[in-house]
Amino acid sequence: MSSTRKLAAQKQRALEILVRLKRLYPEAPCTLNYETPVQLLVATILSAQCTDERVNLVTPELFRRFPDAVALANAEVGELEQLVRSTGFYRNKAKNIQAACRQIVSDYGGHVPKTMEELLKLPGVARKTANVVLAHAYGIHAGVTVDTHVKRLSQRLGLTQHSDPIRIERDLMQLLPQPDWENWSIRLIYHGRAVCTARNPACDSCVLADLCPTADPSKVVPPPVPKVTSTPL
Ligand code: SF4
Repeated sequence: MSSTRKLAAQKQRALEILVRLKRLYPEAPCTLNYETPVQLLVATILSAQCTDERVNLVTPELFRRFPDAVALANAEVGELEQLVRSTGFYRNKAKNIQAACRQIVSDYGGHVPKTMEELLKLPGVARKTANVVLAHAYGIHAGVTVDTHVKRLSQRLGLTQHSDPIRIERDLMQLLPQPDWENWSIRLIYHGRAVCTARNPACDSCVLADLCPTADPSKVVPPPVPKVTSTPL
């Protein structure tokens, strides 16, 4: 198959996957709790190597004490560390949150910037965090968020051969329409948590099984063979 036809077939398959995931998860809100773009940025930094549930346990008190960029920029770093301690890597996270907020206050008047370029200059912010903030806080689709679930599922679904998140993102941006970039990520995250888990993918109950080149055949239940009611002449 020529590379152009192969790409067209991949695009069609990616779209069909997205249609099914939208049907399965019609509402797929961001699972981090926040009220402002700054709070989303902070929660996303905290979510590195940590579950969203754990982050959501920590942020109510964190945001009660330090609700905005100015408060976080001026916080006593030891107190910040204690508040975020249970999310892991807490010293680094507290340091990055404060440094990012100081830059947001000094360079952007206390508001999270709205471009990828500016976001990537903030300490502790890589493309994954920037994509989440742009998409969920501002509705801007600058790229595809590639977290551990998006990486694993995109690989299993045969939509990328890469393991580097930047290359995976590039592949996905080529396959999916831009307005659906975040729709894709958030639904793959839901599906990765509920069905296609890292250790034990439930291929037998997966709506994507017939579109998935790595579906476990021992688990996939074949569709019922239609009964023949009359023999055609
Ligand atoms: S068929 Fe299996 S491997 Fe493929 S997406 Fe579904 S659960 Fe994951």
